[in-house]
Amino acid sequence: MFIECPISFQTKSPSLLCAGKIVLLPVKANDGITWKVWVLSTWVEELVDNPGDKNLLSLPGPNVTDGAVVETDVVIIGAGTSGLMTAARLKALGTESVILERSVKIGDSWANRYDSLKFHVPTSNCEMPYKFFPKELQSPHRLSKDEVAEHLQQYAREFHLNVMTSTIIQSSCFDKKEKKWTLHIQVANNDVKTISCKHWFRLRVLTVAVVGSANTAFDVMRDCWEAGLKTTMIARLPTYIFPYEYVMDPHGVGAYDVMPLDAADRLLNTFPSTLDGQFSHGLFAHLASQEPDRYSALSKAGFPVLNSRNPSTNVIQNLFGRGGGHYIDVGGTDLIVEGKVDVRGMVEPTAYTEVGLRLSDGSHLEADAVIWCNGFSDRNVRATAREILDDPSYDSRLKDGVLGPQEIVEQLDASWGVDIEGEVRGVWKRHLLMENYWVIGGTIQHQRWWSLPMVQQIKLALEGNLPPAYRDTPTAA
Ligand SMILES: Cc1cc2nc3c(=O)[nH]c(=O)nc-3n(C[C@H](O)[C@H](O)[C@H](O)COP(=O)(O)OP(=O)(O)OC[C@H]3O[C@@H](n4cnc5c(N)ncnc54)[C@H](O)[C@@H]3O)c2cc1C
Repeated sequence: MFIECPISFQTKSPSLLCAGKIVLLPVKANDGITWKVWVLSTWVEELVDNPGDKNLLSLPGPNVTDGAVVETDVVIIGAGTSGLMTAARLKALGTESVILERSVKIGDSWANRYDSLKFHVPTSNCEMPYKFFPKELQSPHRLSKDEVAEHLQQYAREFHLNVMTSTIIQSSCFDKKEKKWTLHIQVANNDVKTISCKHWFRLRVLTVAVVGSANTAFDVMRDCWEAGLKTTMIARLPTYIFPYEYVMDPHGVGAYDVMPLDAADRLLNTFPSTLDGQFSHGLFAHLASQEPDRYSALSKAGFPVLNSRNPSTNVIQNLFGRGGGHYIDVGGTDLIVEGKVDVRGMVEPTAYTEVGLRLSDGSHLEADAVIWCNGFSDRNVRATAREILDDPSYDSRLKDGVLGPQEIVEQLDASWGVDIEGEVRGVWKRHLLMENYWVIGGTIQHQRWWSLPMVQQIKLALEGNLPPAYRDTPTAA
């Protein structure tokens, strides 16, 4: 039990309208109970001098992308949900930006994924600021990849965001004195190529091994089974599985279906992440205790299940620590229980053979195709930054005070995981050593909430009004 007290206050320089909450816990004292502050959480609601104007979004911006030299205050890399909502929030504060997207079309990062991809959270949880999904795409409907891709295209079009597609970054550097970035980019040209060949062949796939046992693996497994393929899932370790109904519970993310978006955002985004993890564990463990046999048949079929009553399960930790690792059960486990898909539990592939995979228990699995669903490859922001910024032929050290890709990467903080204060480490925040460089990502809920303080800080920095950052957060977890 705790008492949550909302607070509001204003700061002078910069002039900010702020809100927060103090959460009090009862603690036993000699003469009864005293209430102690457990959580103090504050956030900026508005820049007083510039609260933002949604009407700016409908105005076509200046055509900044035509000339050989593009001048802009902010460059955003990637026109996914993070990039587009950051650009829209900046535009509402009166700042134009340029988005560089490597795909041919906006939304391709969704459109090009596997067929069965559908969101595992209600649409109300995935809204982007200023433009919501239409009514027919709300719960109980689950968003498909193509619906998200289409929404992103409409979003960019409707708000006249400056997106340059088919763009490859060739080099980038940061001038410490001028505090300016310079990027060289290769943009799309209209060259057309014809490919002629003498032979073509068709690969015949009948059996498939799906390596992995979390969200993507279950979705891909369903696609394979629906395509009539003999499918086997390889579950290397016990995997945390919980039903979609738990996610939809109004005490958790389902809150988005029963209260306004702003209210649900304030409820669910303003606790330290460590506590969010404990709350979601408590809720899911309670729901699981009411149906202790929910996954008995799955275990019996050979799938190593971690269910929500296991004290090690914590979906927030999974999301912030490793970007997944669990399965939100939207029906995929039935395929294993009903014997439609095979499972090999507690083993991992050790080698390819001519006709399949050798497994760690010495057994062999026949497979015409192996699909690896073993997690994101870009969890380490330093490696990703290096890939995006790097150009071996560019030697920044020739100029004094200019940082090249290698030096920039060395100055970046770690991104995911939580610090001792229970806060996510390096995403959405100012970096300790690297100026004017921001990282945004995570689920759409987190992108929506955190993009606002991020662009507020960018705006204040552009105006020269950004105060120094709070720097007492411990670095080691
Ligand atoms: C299978 C699956 C299911 C998911 N389900 C959910 C869900 O139910 N709910 C939820 O909230 N989230 C879900 N997510 C998480 C989802 O990925 C994030 O919410 C969201 O896509 C992240 O948005 P983003 O804009 O940060 O990254 P992305 O969507 O990955 O966009 C990044 C963009 O940057 C571009 N890009 C990358 N590198 C470069 C470069 N060098 N130059 C130029 N452009 C570049 C890419 O082409 C892409 O368009 C799911 C993810 C997956 C894979």
